[in-house]
Amino acid sequence: MSTNIICIVGRPNVGKSTLFNRLIEERKAIMDNQSGVTRDRHYGYGEWTDKYFTVIDTGGYVVGSEDIFEGAIREQVERAIEESTVVLFMVDTMTGLTELDKEFANVLRRYDKPVYLVANKAETTERHQSAAEFYELGMGDEIYTISAQTGFGTGDLLDAVVTHFEDPGIENPEAGIPRVAIMGRPNVGKSSFLNALIGAERSIVTDIAGTTRDAIHTRYKAFGKDFILTDTAGIRRKSRVKEDIEFYSTLRSVKALEESDVCVVMIDATLGLEGQDISIIGQADKAKKGIVLMVNKWDLVEKDTKTADTFRKQMMERLAPMNYMPVIFASVVEKQRIYQVMEKVMEVYENKTKRIPTSKLNDVMQAEIAKYPPPAHRGKYINIKYMIQVPTPSPTFIFFTSHPKHVKEPYMRYLENRMRENFDFSGVPITLFFREK
Ligand code: GDP
Ligand code: GDP
Repeated sequence: MSTNIICIVGRPNVGKSTLFNRLIEERKAIMDNQSGVTRDRHYGYGEWTDKYFTVIDTGGYVVGSEDIFEGAIREQVERAIEESTVVLFMVDTMTGLTELDKEFANVLRRYDKPVYLVANKAETTERHQSAAEFYELGMGDEIYTISAQTGFGTGDLLDAVVTHFEDPGIENPEAGIPRVAIMGRPNVGKSSFLNALIGAERSIVTDIAGTTRDAIHTRYKAFGKDFILTDTAGIRRKSRVKEDIEFYSTLRSVKALEESDVCVVMIDATLGLEGQDISIIGQADKAKKGIVLMVNKWDLVEKDTKTADTFRKQMMERLAPMNYMPVIFASVVEKQRIYQVMEKVMEVYENKTKRIPTSKLNDVMQAEIAKYPPPAHRGKYINIKYMIQVPTPSPTFIFFTSHPKHVKEPYMRYLENRMRENFDFSGVPITLFFREK
């Protein structure tokens, strides 16, 4: 994790999110391309004059709330301040100085952090000049007038900010860190599991409570593992209006899945694998995500030495051919095997991101093909010449073949199974394409 952290604070509507987006703009495209997702989040990564940094956006969470100093929100803002190296305190030259600005200034004075007073929306000369009124806040002798919208003044601001960063920072702080979604039908124990993970250690980058945005990404270090949860909002929202929850939780879980690398699909041990579970697993498989099956509430099952094996076997039979994922029998309530779940998540992530060298792939798979060549189609001999893995977010292989259209489903299945036997792709959907050379 980079220690170069900027947080943007200020009352609602001053332009925090606009500045946030501007600061992370270029890097965002790069980072999102790598994972193949687009994200909507409260922290992002920026770069200025070869220094890399993290930006925390505290905007967007107070819509509809007058009292931004209400306990929970205030706590989140203060956590963001605590975690950051530099604070950007944003005010608005269009509306001028307000009481809320003064309150914010008082909060900031309690911290021993470098604070930059940023007067936004200063596109016109008039607003630019009116920024002088913010000296009254007593936040030092420099006011940075900018326009987050046009980018005016942001260069000078960043020049000053990066002087606080001693090291160059990390170019891609999320490389190699899995993003994890927790899925499962209502009541299976998702919130309890999330709380067990989150309760273990606090986040490295703050998440913001009560947000109006759908997905929140929070980075954690728990049980010795470093990971990002793609949805933690559900925990806190639990107590709110019922219908709302139903609707948003469906939307949110779709989004959390989309934005994850690996998803933990929770299954209720007392109910067994049901249609709804299979549909969730199917969604994850279709989206080419890594999958770990977590059979929860194992404490409630009466068992002997064979119970887990039998349970696993039955599940795998029902899931076939979608039955390549590891299964962990756990109990969140009794804190049993939570660590193993996270360990499997890491393994599956490795399987999902590994690359098989072309020569090894060809040696191994040509031998398998020689043992059982593709059946000829109407006298047409099908020849698989060679194969490569392509650099995509989930394992994808191209088999260069004569008459690729005539390679049939059972033979594809044969190849997939041989791939799984020879290379560990446990928990990972793999994709095979057949192309004419
Ligand atoms: P936040 O609540 O502090 O995160 O503020 P937003 O970034 O959501 O911006 C609030 C409003 O101010 C939006 O309508 C923005 O389009 C507008 N805004 C943000 N930055 C600028 C700016 O530099 N100039 C002008 N004129 N409007 C801006
Ligand atoms: P969610 O709807 O998937 O978020 O499920 P919750 O986390 O709210 O859990 C639903 C209920 O199952 C709660 O009463 C939990 O206490 C209970 N629960 C969760 N995990 C376990 C477990 O491992 N064992 C037992 N016995 N109960 C559990």
